[in-house]
Amino acid sequence: MDFQFLGGASEVGRLGMVLKKGPISLLFDYGLLPRDPPQYPIPAPPVDGMFVSHAHLDHTGMIPWVTRRQDLDVVLTPPTADVADLLLQDSLKIADAEGFDAPFDDGDLRTARRRFKTVDFGDNVDIGDLEVTAHPAGHIPGATMYEVNGTETTLFTGDLHTLTTDLVWGARPVKCDTLFIESTYAGRQHPERLKSEHAFLRKIEQVVNRGGLALVPSFAVGRTQDILLTLSKAHHEVWLDGMGKKVNSIYVENPEYVRSVKALRKAMNRVRVVRGPRDAQLALRGEVIVTTSGMLDGGPVLRYLEEIREDPRSAVLLTGYQVEGTNGRRLIDEGVIDLYGVTVDIKCEWQKFDFSAHAGHDDLVRFIEGCDPQRVVLMHGENRQILADALEGREVLLPQEGQWYTI
Ligand SMILES: [Zn+2]
Ligand SMILES: [Zn+2]
Repeated sequence: MDFQFLGGASEVGRLGMVLKKGPISLLFDYGLLPRDPPQYPIPAPPVDGMFVSHAHLDHTGMIPWVTRRQDLDVVLTPPTADVADLLLQDSLKIADAEGFDAPFDDGDLRTARRRFKTVDFGDNVDIGDLEVTAHPAGHIPGATMYEVNGTETTLFTGDLHTLTTDLVWGARPVKCDTLFIESTYAGRQHPERLKSEHAFLRKIEQVVNRGGLALVPSFAVGRTQDILLTLSKAHHEVWLDGMGKKVNSIYVENPEYVRSVKALRKAMNRVRVVRGPRDAQLALRGEVIVTTSGMLDGGPVLRYLEEIREDPRSAVLLTGYQVEGTNGRRLIDEGVIDLYGVTVDIKCEWQKFDFSAHAGHDDLVRFIEGCDPQRVVLMHGENRQILADALEGREVLLPQEGQWYTI
């Protein structure tokens, strides 16, 4: 068996991996690194089939590039197909607005859509003499691990979370000989989830009681739904704006991928949706606004932030990882952001909360022990060595992008 990472082995972003077993080559994920302009993986070689773990653009952003050049099926779950489609359309709009060349066009996206072959958890796909089985990966609704069975068993996790949240069930280990596993949180632990939720709700209570507005920048996919479920445990006036609205609908249409679609529906019904400028004004007089983008790099959040940034009673509550070079990171490091080309101070309160959808260090170690592989290949992480050091008695590989490995 041979493999090569086209991207995303030593960094979090633009993941793509080719796995070659005998005469058959498979491509797992093919994404981009969202920067301005985005960064892309190494061009994918010809393969016999493609498997997509989940909808986030660092795993899906380059699918149309592949289906434009190759005649193959793209295997993924129904919510992954729908949400990826939405994000890919959005990435074309962003390219247009920012003025950089997209690596594919609308026609290529239509072609990609036709090649989507949806599977549910537990389904098998046969390619040559290989059998590939889909398993839940936690993380976000529809996120999938792929088990490849030939002469030996290989598992590719994609992004992984073992914790059961209000939104998704946690991933369970799958016995395998070789395990390709993400390592985003290698060396880092999460605070207890319930404690984060309580701290978040307490902070909102405080902000509302002093007459302020809590602005909650959230990623549209996964995090927004997570936050709405958390907010449904309190009784505030919550407004929702941005792309999270469409993602909500997709998840509700795919109820078997959500832990409790009843709870998600209930949470959504309690939220007021911003449908136009008048609603946006009303939202500013409300108590909580949940909106995109999660890293303050565009989207409706900037309009709201402009309104509250000098109000000491109000607060910005960040709910996700803030990548280097983003406005969210500038806020944390310097207390300023770039607002439509001008650097401005943020004088209202701001705070960051941990709602991560990735397994923490100890979760990863436990998951690996549960899969009990002879060989572990660590990917999708910047601190892989720390995790490698924690895995005794197993062969551990830390591959570099572009290099072929034979195992
Ligand atoms: Zn992800
Ligand atoms: Zn990822």
